[in-house]
Amino acid sequence: MNCPVCKTSSLEATELAAGQAQGLSARRCTGCGGQWVNGETYLLWVQRQGTNLPENEPDSVTELQVNQTNKAKLCPDCGRFLVRAKVGHGVGFQLERCGGCGGIWFDANEWESLVARNLHDDVHFVFSSTWQADVLRQEREQQREKLMIAKLGEADWNEIQRIKRWLDGHSKRSELYAVLAE
Ligand SMILES: [Zn+2]
Ligand SMILES: [Zn+2]
Repeated sequence: MNCPVCKTSSLEATELAAGQAQGLSARRCTGCGGQWVNGETYLLWVQRQGTNLPENEPDSVTELQVNQTNKAKLCPDCGRFLVRAKVGHGVGFQLERCGGCGGIWFDANEWESLVARNLHDDVHFVFSSTWQADVLRQEREQQREKLMIAKLGEADWNEIQRIKRWLDGHSKRSELYAVLAE
């Protein structure tokens, strides 16, 4: 079995560390450090975890360097093209999965980055339409925020956000909003 990036380097059996959880059997490229997980192995591992771990906020973890390889890759198991999907949630890289057998490719440090954010048990969800719709919604929200900051300036933007948080957490929220709208 050869690496879908390096082509000539072979993939060797390894176990991916998963924080407190049991490790996940995988194959690792000795050349680029990329890691391949069989689709069924992944789903069985997720089932064994029982509960889905709560996501860690992006600012709570140290970001690892990920050099995403942008060339199209072929599945080392069944030879089909791998399909990309954005992780979103503040994660800058995309994941790649085989449309045929469901195997997943992680470029070096991608798996470890997901473990740090507790997103390593959500990889199967990342490729769902619900997850992708949510990623799109987050992107639009960020775009809107960028536009508003450009319009209002950062100081006023932060101030209105502070006021909004105070209003939204207030027990007389609707009365306060009504006063503002007068
Ligand atoms: Zn490689
Ligand atoms: Zn495949």
